[in-house]
Amino acid sequence: MSIIRPTQEALEEAAKTIRSGGVVVMPTETVYGLACSALKKKAVTRVFEIKGRPMDNPLIVHLADVSQLGLVASSWPKEAELLADRFWPGPLTMVLPRKDSVPLETTGGLDTVAVRVPSHPIALDLIRMADCPVAAPSANLFMGLSPTRPDMIDPAIQVDVDITLDGGPCEVGLESTVVDLTGDHPRILRPGGVTRAQIQAVIGQPLGQFPPNSVRKSPGMHRRHYAPDVPVELVKSVTKKAAGLVFGEPANSLQVRMPQDARGYGALLYSAMQKIEQGGAKKIFVESPPETPEWEAVNDRLTKASAEKSGS
Ligand code: AMP
Ligand code: MG
Repeated sequence: MSIIRPTQEALEEAAKTIRSGGVVVMPTETVYGLACSALKKKAVTRVFEIKGRPMDNPLIVHLADVSQLGLVASSWPKEAELLADRFWPGPLTMVLPRKDSVPLETTGGLDTVAVRVPSHPIALDLIRMADCPVAAPSANLFMGLSPTRPDMIDPAIQVDVDITLDGGPCEVGLESTVVDLTGDHPRILRPGGVTRAQIQAVIGQPLGQFPPNSVRKSPGMHRRHYAPDVPVELVKSVTKKAAGLVFGEPANSLQVRMPQDARGYGALLYSAMQKIEQGGAKKIFVESPPETPEWEAVNDRLTKASAEKSGS
C-alpha cells in the first residue's frame, strides 16, 4: 500500500479500517505505529504477525484522552492522574491493572495494560474517529529500528497493512517512557521522551528501575533492540574513515553530525542510523553521548542497539 496524505477522507477511511479490525500505520510524536483496535483479538494477532513479534510482548494501548482510561484499566492510583494531567497528551506510558475487556493478546498475557495518550494531532484524530482504544507498537519488524519518518517504513510492513498515513517526521523520535504503577513504588520500565526527573517532580518520590533479571517480560527489555542490521559500537571518538554518528564535523559521507542536546539527538537517532546503513556501512560507530540524566533514553537505545545479536 502507498503512503497517503492524512486528509479528512483518508482519516475517515483509516478509522473505519481500525473499527472493522484492520491495521493502519499511524504517525505519533514518538515513532510510527502499527495501529489496530486494542479490543479485537484478531486484529491484535495480525499486528504481532506483521511485526514478527513474540506474542508474549505486550502492546501499548493508545487513547484519545484520559476520560477513556476506564475502558482499559480496572483501577489507577492517584499518581496516574497526576502524571496524566501533566504529561498527556505526550510520550508517557503508564502500566495499570488491566480491565477484562482488553484481550490478553493485547497485553501479552499480563494482567496489566500499558496506556498512553499520544500528542500527534493525526494520531489523536484517528483514535477519536475510530472510537476505540488503539494498540500501536512501533511500525518496524521485531527488534529493528523504529520508523521516525514515513520513508523509513519497511516495504515488508507496508505491503501487509491496509493504510499508511503520512504524518511527517516524528518530533520525539524515541519511544515513550514506560512507568509501571502497579507495584508498591512507581518504576521506570523503559526510559523515553519524558525524563525520570520530570516524572519524579510530579509524583514527589524517586522512581525505581526495572530489575534486569526480572521474569516479567517487556519487549523493550531485550538486550538487543532498536537496532539496525549492521553492528553498532559506542566509542570515545569515531575515526576519520569510519561510518558513524559524531558530534563534530563529519569526515566522510557516512558520518552524520548529531545535535548536542538530548532531545534533538533522540529525534534524529533512528533516521541517522538508517541513513548510514543504507549508505552501505558495514558497522556504525557512535561517539558516546554524555552520561547525564537527560541522555538516559538516548543512552538506553544506544546500549541496546550495540548489544550482541546473540544476546537478544
Ligand atoms: P512498543 O510497543 O514496541 O513501543 O513497546 C511496548 C513497550 O511497552 C515495551 O517496551 C514494554 O516495556 C511496555 N509494556 C507494554 N505493556 C506492558 C505491560 N502490561 N507491562 C509492562 N510493560 C509493558
Ligand atoms: Mg518497538
